[in-house]
Amino acid sequence: MTHLFRPTRRQILRSGAALASAAVLPGLIGCAAPGPRWSSDPFALGVASGDPLPDGFVLWTRLAPEPLSPDPATPGGMSGGAMPVTYEIATDPAMTQIVRSDTALASPEDAWSVHVEVSGLSSGRPYWYRFTVGAAQSAIGRTMTAPARGAPLDKFRFGFVSCSNYELGYFSAYRHLAEEQPDIAIFLGDYIYEFAGRRPGVRKHSDGVAATDLRTYRNRYAQYHTDPDLQRLHAQVPALMTWDDHEVQNDYADDLSETFDDPVKFLQRRAAAYRAFYEHMPVRPSLSHPDGPNMRVYDRLAFGDLIGFSVLDGRQYRSRQACYARPKNGGGHVESNASCPERLDPARSMLGLEQERWLFDGLARSHARWNVIAQDVLMAELRETPPDNSGYGFWTDDWNGYPACRARLLHHIHDAKVKNPVVIGGDIHSFWANELKIDNSDRRAPPVATEFVGTSVTSFGPPYDTFMKFLPDNPHVKFFESRKRGYVLVDTDRQRMDVKMQIVSDAADPKATLSTLKRWTVENGRAGPQAA
Ligand code: FE
Ligand code: CA
Repeated sequence: MTHLFRPTRRQILRSGAALASAAVLPGLIGCAAPGPRWSSDPFALGVASGDPLPDGFVLWTRLAPEPLSPDPATPGGMSGGAMPVTYEIATDPAMTQIVRSDTALASPEDAWSVHVEVSGLSSGRPYWYRFTVGAAQSAIGRTMTAPARGAPLDKFRFGFVSCSNYELGYFSAYRHLAEEQPDIAIFLGDYIYEFAGRRPGVRKHSDGVAATDLRTYRNRYAQYHTDPDLQRLHAQVPALMTWDDHEVQNDYADDLSETFDDPVKFLQRRAAAYRAFYEHMPVRPSLSHPDGPNMRVYDRLAFGDLIGFSVLDGRQYRSRQACYARPKNGGGHVESNASCPERLDPARSMLGLEQERWLFDGLARSHARWNVIAQDVLMAELRETPPDNSGYGFWTDDWNGYPACRARLLHHIHDAKVKNPVVIGGDIHSFWANELKIDNSDRRAPPVATEFVGTSVTSFGPPYDTFMKFLPDNPHVKFFESRKRGYVLVDTDRQRMDVKMQIVSDAADPKATLSTLKRWTVENGRAGPQAA
C-alpha cells in the first residue's frame, strides 16, 4: 500500500486545522484548488442516491482513496478529522443549471461517508448531482424526486435485485438493469456476503476471511462498491434498500447467530455490520443512522397515486427460527408439523409486533393503486418433503417458518381491502410467480395477493430437479426457475403490472448479454400472476 496518509503539519494548516488531509500530495504550495489534493481518486466507491420523496432524496458517497486499506485506523485510506465535501444538484445532465450547492461533512465515525438528505426541490422530476472535495470531483449521478403526494401518475418502472455474491460472478445484472432506466431499483438483501472462499468463483473477497468486525465489513462493502456495474446502477438509478441475512451472517435472527454465538457478542458483530451497511448505502440518516446494534431500514414510500412500497426488515426483529437448534446447527431447517409444532406458534413473528402494526396501519391507510411489499424472503407456502417422510416439510428461515405471521398479514390485506397487493422477495436464488392465499388447501379459493421472487444476481440457485418435484403439492406456485441469474423488471400503469423475469447469459462472463425468461401480468383488481 503506497497511500497510507499522514498529513504533515503544513498540510493540516492548508486545509483548515480541524480537517483531515488524507491522500494529500506533498508540495502543494501555490495550487489554486482549495482543500486537499488527492494522490488517488477519493470517489473510488462511486456515488448513489436513494429514497425519492416528493421534495428530495438522499445522496451518498464515501471518501475512500484506498478502498481496501487493511489498517483499521485508516478506513478507505483516510485519517485525521472530518472533511467538508461540496455537493451540487442540477436540473440537467451537464450540470449547467445548478439549483443547490452546499457542503456536507464526511466524518471519521462514519468512515468518511456522506449522506445528504436533500429537501425543498420540485416534485416528480429528474435531478443530477456530483460531489467535490479539493481537486477531486465525483462522477455525475442521476436521481429523481417522487411526484407530489397523491398526484396522478400514469406509469412507473422499477427493478428488483438480490443475492449478489462478488466471488461467484460479475454484476452484469446490475449493468443491464441500469440500462433499462427504471425509476427506482430495489435491493432486497444479500447485497454482500459475509463469508469468503466457500465455493470456487470468478473473483475473491479481498480479506479472504468472513467479515466479523467493523474493518472487515467496511472493506467488504467497499470492495463491492468498486465494481463498475454496481457503480453504474447506483449512479443512474435511485435505490430503495433493505437487507437479508448475509449483510450480517447466514440465517441470523435478531440476536441469534446460526453458530450459537453469545448473543451479547453477536450483537456487537451485528452493530459493526449494520454500521458498515449504513456507511455504504444511500439511506436517510434521519431514519437509519445506526444506534449500536439497532438500525431502522423499514420504510414506506409512495409515488403519486399509482404505487406505494412498504419496504420491510425481515431479520432484525424476527423470532428465532422454529426448532432452531436442530439437528445440530442453527438457522433454517426443513421441519414438519410433527417434528416441530413450535413453527405454528401464533406468538412468533417474522417482523416483530411493532413492525407488523406499522405495516398493517400503512397498508390500511394507503391510497395507492398498487401496494408493493418489498422484503427479503419467499412468502408463499412451500410444501416440501421432509427427510423422514412425516408429512410435508417447511423451510423454517423464510415465511414458511412464520406461518401465523404470514396468515395475519394475508388476513389483514383481505380485511382492509388493500388495493392490488404485490409481494416481492429474494433470498432463494430463483424466480417464482405465486398466488398468495389464506388457505392453500382450497384450490378454488381466490388469491388475496400476488408474489414475485427474483433470482440472484450471481449466487448459485437451489437444486432445480428437487424443487420441481415439490410443485405438484403447491398448485399456488405458478412458476419456478433456479438455473438462471438476473433480476425482475416491473412496468406499472393504471390497469396492469407487466413483470419481466430478466436473465443474463452467464454470470461468470463480465460482458454477459440479457434476455427475457418469462413475462407476467397482474391485472388491476385481480390478484395473482397471469402468464403473458
Ligand atoms: Fe442469497
Ligand atoms: Ca439470504
